[in-house]
Amino acid sequence: MPDVMRGRVIMHVDMDAFYASVEAARNPRLRTVPFWVGGAERGVVLSANYLARTYGVSGGMASTRARRLCPAGVAVPPDFDHYGAVSAGVFALFDQITDRVEAASIDEAYLDITGSQRRLGSPRLIGENVRARVADEQHITCSVGIAQGRALAKLASNRVKPDGLLVVDPGEVVALLHPLPVEQLSGVGPATASTLHKLGLSTVGQVAHTPVSTLRRALGARAGQWLSDLSWGHDESLVVGQDRERSIGSQTTFARDTDDPEQVGTELLRMAARTAGRMRASGLCGRTVVLDVRFADFTTITRSGTLRDPTDVTDEIYARARKLFESLGLQRARIRRVGVRVEGLVPSDQAYRQPALDEPERGMRQVELAADDVVYRFGAHAAQRARLTRRTLSNPESGSPGITSVGGTA
Ligand SMILES: [Mg+2]
Repeated sequence: MPDVMRGRVIMHVDMDAFYASVEAARNPRLRTVPFWVGGAERGVVLSANYLARTYGVSGGMASTRARRLCPAGVAVPPDFDHYGAVSAGVFALFDQITDRVEAASIDEAYLDITGSQRRLGSPRLIGENVRARVADEQHITCSVGIAQGRALAKLASNRVKPDGLLVVDPGEVVALLHPLPVEQLSGVGPATASTLHKLGLSTVGQVAHTPVSTLRRALGARAGQWLSDLSWGHDESLVVGQDRERSIGSQTTFARDTDDPEQVGTELLRMAARTAGRMRASGLCGRTVVLDVRFADFTTITRSGTLRDPTDVTDEIYARARKLFESLGLQRARIRRVGVRVEGLVPSDQAYRQPALDEPERGMRQVELAADDVVYRFGAHAAQRARLTRRTLSNPESGSPGITSVGGTA
């Protein structure tokens, strides 16, 4: 493998068992048991850890079926706010590799690293670097495939999943592809596969040696041409850089509509703490604090305020959210739901380039980082603010993050 790959170089990065891995990362007790993320009684399995998979549990399966296959397994309700925050952290890391990042889903992206090699080294080095940083910063694993096209890169990452890296040398593409079953090619679903099987084609090599006119007739002009090209490793589709709107936040629906400013204040603090914790976990800081208030009649208002410096500190986010709330001047308005989020996210190592211990209010950040470490090792209730240990909600953050339900998403 040469140090610099000629032509376009595309990297596909896919988190392994994303929701399940994120839950295990923040809950030590889940690291040694089979579990899945999804409804406990009804609903489907969204993501299963690799231990549960050994029992045959897999994503998309009905939860009741998973329960029969693995009676001792733990069902963890999903916490999409948290997965979104971890995802934002991963994508912030991608943005430091290249400005050509295309999100395929919350846990999967294509990166055009053609122009990154001069700055960051060989494709393999870039891939190893991404894997190490995802592991260090988010405590989860990912699989990386690197090749001269998107479809090949994805195929490569799938082959080494979980926790692997495969760089496909341009000279080895055909040897890699031709023995594979057609199902492994990107875009070949069950319908296409069955059409190909009817033509007697079951491997990529057989497709490659079939006249393109035959493929175009059977599959349609576009799909036939694409498959013929891809079977020889020709894959010209581009990675589209996107502007992603990113924010990290949390919201709470009260068990009963409330007009008690004290109760709202406690919730604002809880959500500021949760938001700040997610930001630190994601390695992100932000300057714009956004407050959402929904009233009993379901009308919603949004107010935002911008801080002088990006932050990931609870007290700074809480103070601004509280000020925004007070500026509404609500008199006995019945509130149904409140939400706090932070926008204008930047990587923390940029926001905190210089140690700011001389500024007294930033000392709080060191305290919170130390508490994060305790939570990572021992679970959530090991470090909690006194004001937040009172339960006032229908859906309070519980002692075992992920095992019981967390603040609602609308
Ligand atoms: Mg994935």
